[in-house]
Amino acid sequence: CVMFEDLSSKIESAVQSLKGQARITDVNIAETVREIRRALLDADVNLEVARRFTDEVKERVMGSDVLNSVNPGQQFTKIVYDEMVKILGEERSDIAVAHQPPTVILIAGLQGSGKTTFSAKLARYLKQENNRNPILAAADVYRPAAIDQLKTLAGEIDVPVYSIEQKDAVRVAKEAVSMAKSLALDTVIIDTAGRLHVDEKMMDEVAEIKSSVEPDEILFIVDAMTGQDAVNTAKAFNETIDFDGVVLTKMDGDTRGGAALSIRSVVEKPIKFMSTGEKLDALSPFYPDRLAQRILG
Ligand code: GDP
Repeated sequence: CVMFEDLSSKIESAVQSLKGQARITDVNIAETVREIRRALLDADVNLEVARRFTDEVKERVMGSDVLNSVNPGQQFTKIVYDEMVKILGEERSDIAVAHQPPTVILIAGLQGSGKTTFSAKLARYLKQENNRNPILAAADVYRPAAIDQLKTLAGEIDVPVYSIEQKDAVRVAKEAVSMAKSLALDTVIIDTAGRLHVDEKMMDEVAEIKSSVEPDEILFIVDAMTGQDAVNTAKAFNETIDFDGVVLTKMDGDTRGGAALSIRSVVEKPIKFMSTGEKLDALSPFYPDRLAQRILG
């Protein structure tokens, strides 16, 4: 994947130079670890996360018998891989399902992060993969274009949309849930309004929707191409709405995506999906080990 090409090749060359040594010493190890830290920082991985990553790698290498093993390079690579999986969250983390339907899923994030597109993608995914019957709630009430966009996307996948004339997001959310109950639909996906920057009004509104419909799952959507802003926005949203999971969008982009990879470790919430294009099928559940494999070759 283009986003991590540079990181991949830098880590590979760091490990290769270690493998090229006639005898691996703790000096070589320290040098390689430093090189990996530089590669992570160049890829825009959060400073604290990069530091923790490399400290862990070094500690594990020193604490094991890597230096005396038959194949130290390979063992070193395995440790780097394990740490990469760890910062990405170890296990696949699924979204919640309510004991009593409907399952209510709240979608939050900045404007342009990909909320509306993701809402439709998620509806498609749940319908196709999990045999669910979702309804989409158009709670991004300030931009008529957002409602139209949601309706168009929903039309492609034959999923109903609940919307009203009034600019009342809380009401849309609540009524969509009632509608789901009366139509026996098992899932409500609420697409909320975002702004260009974190601000109080947006946060208040999302928090109000949260308290009025008590979602089973709150997903924070973030554009992986926005660098350290992605991490800061994640922190701000997490403090206000205490979300359950992260969705990384635009992972098909060509900017450095290291910041997005840091979110999991910074806010300690799992990444649940990643989005890799504008089309509705460009969505996949997030598997930490698969992405680590892709990054580390
Ligand atoms: P919202 O304002 O948060 O609802 O964002 P939108 O869903 O309207 O998305 C903003 C723009 O990003 C649109 O042009 C989408 O087509 C595009 N977009 C969303 N997700 C992805 C993605 O994963 N990859 C790419 N390349 N574009 C995306």
